[in-house]
Amino acid sequence: MTPQEQLRQWIKDSGNIVFFGGAGVSTESGIPDFRSVDGLYNQKYDEPPETILSHTYFTRRTEDFYRFYRDKMLCLDAKPNAAHLKLAELERAGKLKAVVTQNIDGLHQLAGSQTVYELHGSVHRNYCTKCRTPYGVDFIAGGEGVPRCPVCGGLVKPDVVLYEEGLDQDTVEGAVRAIAQADVLIIGGTSLVVYPAAGLINYYRGNKLVLINRDPTAYDGQADLVIHDSIGKVLGEIEL
Ligand SMILES: [Zn+2]
Repeated sequence: MTPQEQLRQWIKDSGNIVFFGGAGVSTESGIPDFRSVDGLYNQKYDEPPETILSHTYFTRRTEDFYRFYRDKMLCLDAKPNAAHLKLAELERAGKLKAVVTQNIDGLHQLAGSQTVYELHGSVHRNYCTKCRTPYGVDFIAGGEGVPRCPVCGGLVKPDVVLYEEGLDQDTVEGAVRAIAQADVLIIGGTSLVVYPAAGLINYYRGNKLVLINRDPTAYDGQADLVIHDSIGKVLGEIEL
């Protein structure tokens, strides 16, 4: 049996699949991975993305933060790819229980997924830091400079986890619960080096851990099935 056939079989037999996805899932929709070498590095900004996307930078240089954020982090024309669409289909078929993602682009929801744990938040949710009024992504994308709350004048911040900030506890707990109960865990498009990915997959108790990534990762040896290929191609080929 080829790894693809094995994956197909496990998906066919399971009613409790959880998918854990990283930046590679979004890059196949044309969204750059700011951590990869051919991502946003060496471009027109003086500071590396990790500095600009930090809480300190957001607080001290809010206008510059938003210049970068609008330019690089809002990829609102991106469309779900075959991986997003297949995962939504698997959920509708009652086979997939949750998507856990490190991406902030909302493409899983756009594809139709319902249960999505967004570990790093979402560009589609924004809120006033003073009165907590929520704002959609168009409020940020359509404005200029530092976005201010029309209600109270407070600073509006994306519901995105910046460097130096903690993850949302409810989201983490939901992800942990789903992973701990899963019988098939498919990990895709991540080298698993980004916090908290590695820690979260340790909650998996099953024996069908699938790793799909273009390049080898340090975790290949721990997986029950490893496929080095495009996540969109591999999942897209699964027939229900
Ligand atoms: Zn406000």
